[in-house]
Amino acid sequence: MEVRRGPAVGPRPYPLPPDKRVGYALVGLGHLTLEEILPAFGECKKSKPVALVSASPEKLKKVAQQYGIKPESCYSYENYDKLKDNPEVQVIYIVLPNSMHAEYTIRGAQAGKHILCEKPMATSVRECELMIDACKKANVKLMVAYRIQYEPYNRQVKEMVRGNKFGKPKYIEAQNSQSSANPDHWRHKKDLAGGGSLPDIGLYCLNTSRFVLGTEPTEVFAYTYSTPGNPLFKEIEEVVSWQMRFPEGVFVNCVSHYNTHDSRFYRVNTERGWIHVDNAYAYTGQQLQTSHAEGPAKMKNQMVLSEKNQFAAEMDHFSECVLENKAPHTPGEEGLQDHRIMEAIYQSAREGRPVKLPEVKGTDVFRGPEPKPV
Ligand code: NAD
Repeated sequence: MEVRRGPAVGPRPYPLPPDKRVGYALVGLGHLTLEEILPAFGECKKSKPVALVSASPEKLKKVAQQYGIKPESCYSYENYDKLKDNPEVQVIYIVLPNSMHAEYTIRGAQAGKHILCEKPMATSVRECELMIDACKKANVKLMVAYRIQYEPYNRQVKEMVRGNKFGKPKYIEAQNSQSSANPDHWRHKKDLAGGGSLPDIGLYCLNTSRFVLGTEPTEVFAYTYSTPGNPLFKEIEEVVSWQMRFPEGVFVNCVSHYNTHDSRFYRVNTERGWIHVDNAYAYTGQQLQTSHAEGPAKMKNQMVLSEKNQFAAEMDHFSECVLENKAPHTPGEEGLQDHRIMEAIYQSAREGRPVKLPEVKGTDVFRGPEPKPV
């Protein structure tokens, strides 16, 4: 009879008991908070929701009941700063329209709380710098919620690319597209969104390419377009198509589109193969395929990994940073670098010429230590 033995070392003693978990205040009860983040706490091992901030008393009451949050831990935007006096709150998670990230991060830091901020970090380089300064001054941690960098498939691609699995990476093709329908939503207002498809969905192509390669672009070239007369694109761009030049002749070609059917993929082309991720930037459903030459044969493989809830993974990483006093893997500096590049992309499109970026030597220059496996 076959005897099945478990691994020599037993499972790690997680999840943490509720009183040992890091307490989060969620700011903004919109789609992302209600549909993804709050449910994801059910899969967290080190994080728990303890406070809510919203302009709507009805929504606060309902959501607080759903997630067992005390009525006295529900705040409006006006009394947001009172979070300072709530010892259960260690982290403030900012899930507001992009132009509000800077103000609520700075006020949150001044309240003495660690900040997890949704992407894009802000609407300009200047705002990112102010956010980083405020968190440093208050001696609190700042992390940008780049969930892809905690997601198993994209992390696997990073390992393969950095290890030159099929030879050196040479060229990346990346696309993030979706169609939008509501011109009145804040995403279509320049002053609230900061831009159009680029900072919202194009950022995934940009940040994931930087993450997979580890290096930084030295130059960008871009086009933007908005269909005249379409109310969706009166204030913001519909499409951005851009190219980034990375060190050692690696080119990255990206497109973000607000007016084509959903498509979220990238392909890393290497000397002797390629690595392709479909649904790369989605919440679930990543599909990883590779192709490589073995002598005269061309091998094609599909790699299947166990999926992890990306929001739970990123929140538990930040909680671990708080509990163990470590720097986050995706700190404010990582978000700032994306904003530097996005500003160069817009400048290139405006001026119709390539724009150079300051040279950055080394790898993972803006990232903190690697997250522990989840
Ligand atoms: P949403 O429109 O569904 O929610 C925004 C929330 O902000 C609402 O509760 C709204 O009431 C509140 N709000 C406060 N002041 C507002 C104002 N002046 N105008 C409009 N709304 C105001 O948006 P969302 O999709 O939840 O996005 C929130 C943030 O999360 C954005 O920064 C977005 O980029 C980010 N996001 C990230 C991901 C991800 O995968 N990481 C996915 C979606 C959204």
